[in-house]
Amino acid sequence: MNPNREYSIAIAAVREAAELCTNVQAQLENSSFQKKDRSPVTVADFGSQALVCSRLRASFPDDPIIAEENADVLRESGNKALSERVLREVLRLRGDATRDDILHWIDLGGAKEYSDRFWTLDPIDGTKGFLRGDQYAVALALIEAGKVVLSAVACPNLSVTQADSETGVLLAARKGDGTLIYRLSDMAVIGEARVSAHAEPASIRLCESVESMHTSHSGTGRVAGILGITTEPVRLDSQAKYAVVASGNAEMYLRLPSDRRYVENIWDHAGGSLLVEEAGGIVTDIHGNHLDFGLGYQLKNNRGVIVSNGQLHDRLLDAIQEAGID
Ligand code: AMP
Ligand code: MG
Repeated sequence: MNPNREYSIAIAAVREAAELCTNVQAQLENSSFQKKDRSPVTVADFGSQALVCSRLRASFPDDPIIAEENADVLRESGNKALSERVLREVLRLRGDATRDDILHWIDLGGAKEYSDRFWTLDPIDGTKGFLRGDQYAVALALIEAGKVVLSAVACPNLSVTQADSETGVLLAARKGDGTLIYRLSDMAVIGEARVSAHAEPASIRLCESVESMHTSHSGTGRVAGILGITTEPVRLDSQAKYAVVASGNAEMYLRLPSDRRYVENIWDHAGGSLLVEEAGGIVTDIHGNHLDFGLGYQLKNNRGVIVSNGQLHDRLLDAIQEAGID
């Protein structure tokens, strides 16, 4: 690959999608819908996926894209108002798009199987946070030979430095090249992301999902107790948690299985995991195995996800075992 071309196109695509999401979040009424699995999807999930997939297809026509959404519900006659609203939001950024273009672009993200090179996209990660007016992310990653080699993650409601009072960041990483933090509003580089060096359990800052369906809050409590962590976990939605660890604002992100059968999807972790690794941190599952992006759209060989600044990772894995989590 030409690393600069992929990098600049990924960043531009994610930034444009984040702009659409910001517009939608500013006026949320009637913009969401329940999927078959009862999880919510919004005008912005569809619009974001349409924008990113169309850009990827224009620049890399042969690359498959494994993305979270598909256009089926927008094609249903009863959902005309929803699809009209998606079109309206996309037209604000792409003046010449049609309804058919949008349905087609969304479905470009329909790959499911593993291939030697593909993109994976979560058009809005943390939709529940998005609907609450809280954190969410647009997360894109390029996977080659089963490894994440590039990622761009926009967090429109996150700020990672005290100096910068403005909210909205985009973090981007290339394998072997580090992670950069950009200000989303003008894409000025804020700095290079580095994980914190804290290794003292008492002052470890830990984050986890807001949703108790997505992670075991009680499990986190037991693990924190075993490690001697005294601070309360910070709860936030989406891969913003990876950005918080990558930028040194927390030492750990725990995603302890809350459901026996649940298998994690690659788009929830590909982008974020490279941000942390390139900032000097470690990402594994609860058994200490690396995340295996070589199996299609799910992390079938992994269980839960554990992210840290690297200082206490082994002790963390031991504590998870001691807490009886598996
Ligand atoms: P978060 O914002 O960290 O709560 O993560 C949001 C993501 O959790 C969504 O994109 C879903 O794909 C994913 N998710 C849905 N159900 C579960 C579950 N039972 N366990 C873990 N993650 C889940
Ligand atoms: Mg997600």
